[in-house]
Amino acid sequence: MDGQDGLLFEGVPLQTIASAVGTPCWVTGAGTLRRRTRNLRKAFTERGVDIALHYAMKANDHQATLSVLRQEGCGADVVSGGELRRAIQAGIDPAHIVFSGVGKTDAELMLALQEEIGQINVESVEELRRLSRLARASSLTARVALRVNPHIDAGTHDKISTGRLGDKFGIDWDDAPTLYREASKLPGIEIRGLATHIGSQILTPTPFKAAYTRIAELVSGLRSEGLTVTMVDCGGGLGVRYRDELAPPPAALAGAIVETLGGLDLQLAIEPGRWIAAPAGLLLASIIDLKAQREGVSDFVIVDAAMNDLARPSLYDSWHGIIPLAPDLAYAETAPQTVVGPVCESSDVLAKDRLLPALRPGDQIAVLDTGAYGSVMSSTYNSRPLAAQVMIENGKWQIIRKRQNLESLWSDDVVPDWLDGAGTAT
Ligand SMILES: *Cc1c(COP(=O)(O)O)cnc(C)c1O
Repeated sequence: MDGQDGLLFEGVPLQTIASAVGTPCWVTGAGTLRRRTRNLRKAFTERGVDIALHYAMKANDHQATLSVLRQEGCGADVVSGGELRRAIQAGIDPAHIVFSGVGKTDAELMLALQEEIGQINVESVEELRRLSRLARASSLTARVALRVNPHIDAGTHDKISTGRLGDKFGIDWDDAPTLYREASKLPGIEIRGLATHIGSQILTPTPFKAAYTRIAELVSGLRSEGLTVTMVDCGGGLGVRYRDELAPPPAALAGAIVETLGGLDLQLAIEPGRWIAAPAGLLLASIIDLKAQREGVSDFVIVDAAMNDLARPSLYDSWHGIIPLAPDLAYAETAPQTVVGPVCESSDVLAKDRLLPALRPGDQIAVLDTGAYGSVMSSTYNSRPLAAQVMIENGKWQIIRKRQNLESLWSDDVVPDWLDGAGTAT
């Protein structure tokens, strides 16, 4: 916060951006992306481990974000053919792309084979056999890891847990050895190792350690049968502080990995998404109107960003900091207020009973830590166009995606000719 310029992000006054570009508007800090990627990598190099970083691009897949992370030496973890194409478009070497996901179509697997990507994380016996057939039929080889579900509860929100018995992801722990044996014999498959990803926004090293301990046991068991395991992909999931959580530092994740898998002569990889991207972005909005409530009920502050822009609060009850941009509001007296968007859903609440200064229509706010699972989850519900996006670095800023124009919302709609017949029988 600056007494003249109000709230700054990477040195740029956010009021300047909000006023020039309009709101709602996403802002991505390239410097923050770089700093966090370097810190994450450092946590491993300090322990003598050279880890491959495959950025989970579903967190924020803008071409500019991907370009920054490519420059920082990241590969990509992709979960669809669209993401695979997007990563290649951003110049990421296919050899550094990992394809995860519970439902890869034949067309998506063929794309991965033809692009000769580094690794396909297989999630079921059916998928393994299908991939082998596709690879053999096209005389290509799939480099494969088996994604194992280690039956570990990551202690996170139900909707972002992926490694428990009954979660849809991964190969059941008990079936993994049999499948690994099969994979090592199947044509078109070069089995390289194991992958696991137990969930997102994980706030203690304990579940990581439990999962990697199980994976280490599996590695040793498979090797004792004479099978080759060269690689373990440790997934993503490292949590961040949105409010008052005690998010573990990267050193805690590095420790969990090094203590369990570090001595096994493996190539190690991680797939961080949220940890890199969340604090590197924010969402700017303006106050449209205020709606006073009776005594004892928080007044409503109605803003021009909504659940179609930022879905996380309505989807996961997530908490995001909200800070007014103007300097005079920084130290003003606060009262509980509920910040809502204009969308016609009761769940369109960005913040409930939040202590905020008295805001006026036209005032601007920043919704913090929305760089991951923010803009990527936007929809055009209520015919609200996708918000503009801006990137900042070293005091420079630029629009990296202009606000969607309204016509494009319906330009692909087709009205059948026969509607003119107004229901006459043919
Ligand atoms: C979503 C996802 C990640 C990234 O999770 P974060 O919590 O954002 O770090 C990594 N790997 C896989 C397979 C995923 O689906």
